[in-house]
Amino acid sequence: GFNCGIVGLPNVGKSTLFNALTATASAQAANYPFCTIEPNTGRVAVPDPRMDKLAEIGKSVKIVPTSLEFVDIAGLVRGASRGEGLGNQFLANIRETDAIIHVLRCFEDDDITHVEGGVDPIRDAEIVETELMLADLESLEKRLVQAGKRAKGNDREAQAFVALGEPLAAALRDGKPARTAVPAGQEAAAAKLGLMTTKPVLYVCNVEEASAADGNAFSAKVADKAKAEGAGVVIVSAAIEAELSQLPAEDQREFLEGLGLHESGLDRVIAAGYRLLGLQTYFTVGPKETRAWTITAGTKAPQAAAVIHNDFERGFIACETIAYDDYVAFKGEAGAREAGKLRIEGREYVVRDGDVLLFRFNV
Ligand code: GDP
Repeated sequence: GFNCGIVGLPNVGKSTLFNALTATASAQAANYPFCTIEPNTGRVAVPDPRMDKLAEIGKSVKIVPTSLEFVDIAGLVRGASRGEGLGNQFLANIRETDAIIHVLRCFEDDDITHVEGGVDPIRDAEIVETELMLADLESLEKRLVQAGKRAKGNDREAQAFVALGEPLAAALRDGKPARTAVPAGQEAAAAKLGLMTTKPVLYVCNVEEASAADGNAFSAKVADKAKAEGAGVVIVSAAIEAELSQLPAEDQREFLEGLGLHESGLDRVIAAGYRLLGLQTYFTVGPKETRAWTITAGTKAPQAAAVIHNDFERGFIACETIAYDDYVAFKGEAGAREAGKLRIEGREYVVRDGDVLLFRFNV
C-alpha cells in the first residue's frame, strides 16, 4: 500500500491530526516535545462519493472504499541530521514513506510551548527542510564516493548512479531540495535513491478554529511557498478535526455546516495525499459489493487486475470497461452496453480514474 508520513516540529498538532485521522487515541497528544516516540501507523478509508452512486445503481449490499496509510513520525527538531532529539530515528522512518505531509503550526496559543519561540510557519518549514536536506546530502555523498571508485572501473550501474546523484548532491549543497534537480523522466530512478527531499510534499496549515474555512495570514504565506515549490497545501484546524472525529457520523455534517465548512479537513488531507501520490481509483460493481481499488496513474489493465489478485494478472484476457459518467448516465451495465458505452479492452489499455471494470481471465 501507499503511505504518507506526517512530519513537523514538536507541538504543531501532528498527533492531534493523526488521532483524528485514525479516530483512535493511540498517538498520545500532550504539551511536550517527543511524546510520540514510535511511529504510529493508521489506515484510513479514502472518501469517494462516486461509490454511493455506483452502489445504488448496481444494487450492491456493501461498499468497500480503498485506503491510504498514514504514519505519525516522532517530532523532529533543529539538529536532527546531527542526531539531536530523535533525529536518526525520525530520518529512518521518513525514508520509508512515499510522500511527506508537513504539518505547520499556524495558530497562536500562549499555553502551547513553541520549541522555536513564536509562531512562524515559514521558519519552521525551513528548519525541517534543512534537516532533511543535510541528511540527504550526507547519505548521498557517502554513496557517491563509493560509486565514484567503481565507476572508474567501468561499472555501468555505478556510472548511472553518479550521473543521477551528482546533480542532486550539487542542488543539496546549494541549499535546494533534491527534487529541484531531478531531470524530467528520471523521477522513478531518483525515487529509488532513498532520499527524503525527492518525495512529494503536502503542507498542512494547522490554524485556529475561527480560520478553519478561509485560513489566516500565516497560512497565506505557506500557500505562497507551496505554490512556488509546486507542493500541495491544505488548511485544517486540528482542534476541530479532533472534536469532529468524536461525533457520530450523522451529527458531523451539521457540526461542519455550523462552522461554514462543507467537508472535513481530514477528507481534504486524505484527498490531497491521494493526489500527491499520483493515485487513481477504479471500481468493481456487483450485487455483493461496490469496491474501490487504488492504482498509480498510467497503470495498464493487467497490472490493475493484479491489485485485486495476482492470478488476475497472470490469467488476464480482457476487461469490460465503462467510464463512471457513462455508468451513471445509462443507469448501469445493461444500459451502458445497450448505448455502446461498454468497451472491451486488452493488455495495453491504460486504466482511467473512475473506470468501472470487469476482468475476464483464465484461472
Ligand atoms: P505534535 O507534537 O506535533 O504531535 O503536537 P500535538 O498534536 O501533540 O499538539 C500539541 C499541543 O497543541 C496539544 O496540547 C494540542 O492539544 C494542541 N493543539 C493541537 N492543535 C491545536 C489547534 O489547532 N489549536 C490549539 N489551540 N491547540 C492545538
